[in-house]
Amino acid sequence: MDKLFSIIDSLSAGARLTEEQFEYLVSHRSDEGARLLQERAAAVRDTIYGRAIFVRGLVEFSNVCKNDCYYCGIRKSNPNLQRYRLSEAQIMYCVRSGYDLGFRTFVLQSGEDGHFTDEVLCGIIEQIKTEYPDCAVTLSLGERSCESYAVLKAAGADRYLLRHETATKEHYEKLHPADMSFEHRMQCLRDLRALGYAVGAGFMVGAPYQTPADLARDFVFLQEFRPDMVGIGPFIPHHDTPFKDMPAGTLEDTLYYLSILRLMLPDVLLPSTTALGTIHPLGREMGFDHGANVIMPNLSPATVRKQYQLYDGKICVNDDATKCNACIDLRLEKFGYHTVVDRGDRKEFKGGDGRE
Ligand code: SAH
Repeated sequence: MDKLFSIIDSLSAGARLTEEQFEYLVSHRSDEGARLLQERAAAVRDTIYGRAIFVRGLVEFSNVCKNDCYYCGIRKSNPNLQRYRLSEAQIMYCVRSGYDLGFRTFVLQSGEDGHFTDEVLCGIIEQIKTEYPDCAVTLSLGERSCESYAVLKAAGADRYLLRHETATKEHYEKLHPADMSFEHRMQCLRDLRALGYAVGAGFMVGAPYQTPADLARDFVFLQEFRPDMVGIGPFIPHHDTPFKDMPAGTLEDTLYYLSILRLMLPDVLLPSTTALGTIHPLGREMGFDHGANVIMPNLSPATVRKQYQLYDGKICVNDDATKCNACIDLRLEKFGYHTVVDRGDRKEFKGGDGRE
């Protein structure tokens, strides 16, 4: 049998793949192979989650950042950006508007902003959990100390999203300045896991200098680490960064990798990201048809959305939460999906097909 198809068969039968097999999968894609992967990935998602899409309300509460990631629009060396921080009252307003729309998970995301000490963050987390005990709080604040992650967990945080960005040290160093470390990012993920967070990792598709071998190592890392969530989206250049002239990641690659991830980690939470919706008007819908099952609408106040531009062309920056939500419901419905109003925890899948 054709090697590509035999690897796809192994993957869908729940076998662990080697780095070499992942690299083959990445570099020998055929239309037929991609279609088969898509069908199987969507079927696995249907079996475990049905056509229900989990909604996470995203609050981008600060674009102040001490880091200088070469790809990111809110990097500290970008002077052409109005910096903002939402107050606790503003954050609570966003959460309330999401709650009223039926959202039961809130993702608090920001740059690495020293203003948000453990004390400040704990106050916010505690307030959300007190007012909305039926909700999950997800943090996406970048790298912090293990002690800090522990304190935030004790305050009530449930989940943490920290993309590993790349599982290859040499590649990591091409994407970040010397004061950032691959080892530390990976250590953070291990700390978060050990502390009992539901953890999200992930990478940018088509990140500058990314090779098929790098992607293969990303897949092996994710296969071993088994995060609860995997966030992937295309790299999109931002005009005020050193990578402004680099090509964007593609729709086809992102969809193909979403299907690989769904088959590799059948019960994983897999968002169809805003970046995917940015490179194609129906990108997120296609993401669901390739196995994704999470959407993260923006709850940030319309006044600051434009300032949280990690990349150029980000969609929905002129909308508000209510409009975003109505638009998402409509789009999902057209493709035969529906959003669900619950915390949307990962469903442990112990299927009868030989998987763990
Ligand atoms: N500071 C936090 C969270 C904000 S960045 C952190 O470091 O985790 C969230 C994610 O956006 C990053 O992990 C990165 O993968 C993605 N991102 C940043 N710049 C991007 C770009 N130009 N194109 C696509 N995704 C980007």
